[in-house]
Amino acid sequence: MAERKQHRPGDGPYLAAIEAGGTKFNCAIFSVDGDVVAETRIPTTEPDETLSAVLAFFGQHAEKYGPFPGAGIASFGPLDLDPASATFGSIVSTPKPGWSGTNIRNTIREGLGTATLLDTDVNCAALAEGRFGAARDCSTHCYITIGTGIGVGIIANGESLGGTTHPELGHTRLPRAPGDTYQGLCPYHEDCVEGLACGPAMADRWGERPETLSDEHSAWDMEAHYVAALCFNIIYTVRPEKIVIGGGVFERKMLYGRVRQKLSGLLAGYALTPAEQDLESLVCAPGITETAPGLLGAFALAGTAAGLDRGGRHVD
Ligand code: ZN
Repeated sequence: MAERKQHRPGDGPYLAAIEAGGTKFNCAIFSVDGDVVAETRIPTTEPDETLSAVLAFFGQHAEKYGPFPGAGIASFGPLDLDPASATFGSIVSTPKPGWSGTNIRNTIREGLGTATLLDTDVNCAALAEGRFGAARDCSTHCYITIGTGIGVGIIANGESLGGTTHPELGHTRLPRAPGDTYQGLCPYHEDCVEGLACGPAMADRWGERPETLSDEHSAWDMEAHYVAALCFNIIYTVRPEKIVIGGGVFERKMLYGRVRQKLSGLLAGYALTPAEQDLESLVCAPGITETAPGLLGAFALAGTAAGLDRGGRHVD
């Protein structure tokens, strides 16, 4: 990121970035070189009320920083990201009351009158780690977040991977850890990866929040098993140059070493490039620690929407 500097009207263009979360919307106006010149947080309530407040924020600053040539949105999901779909740009089937079917992309695009790109919060975090963080200079990398849920963003050849829509690797299945009979917490699948290994699943399984469990507790060994198994599948499917792991559960830094150790055993040296054999480098912590990575990813999307960098996405 660039050094902070004074911005004057006319220094633009400026870009609109939104991180849409289940509890709050982070909104920011960025200079093209990555300085935040205005920002706010808006509580997530009803869609109309929330999105009106978002548009009002950008409207208040439009005279000084507008017009915005591009906007980017990093949103909770699942999302319809298929440009051929009638509901392209909508949040679909979320348990968040009132939000299923909300076309967040169209609302922002029409409200701001600018080219707008939407992606998932985890894909945006992955994008940000590639542009500004631990996966800089990688053409293909993954970002895994392990917190209240489990999400995996995959950037392949510089863009987030997806066919009909974004992958949901957090809801795939893995072999059980030895002795694990926990039913699983996912309301849809019970014992998918998220159902077995997200923070609330750890709390439910062990009767204690992960942050209060001691380093010696067997919970961490089991957690490392699931995260290593997830990395194992990602490595042989995607062949990423980096797997960046973030999220609240990985505040426990010793987990990185445990995951690498288990992963090394699982891989058993099969079909690995010399770079992939270096697990210290392959599996790492996020490089972005100060700004919300999803918001930075939204800024990167806004730049693409504005035509300021390459990108073969559907932009209008
Ligand atoms: Zn699930």
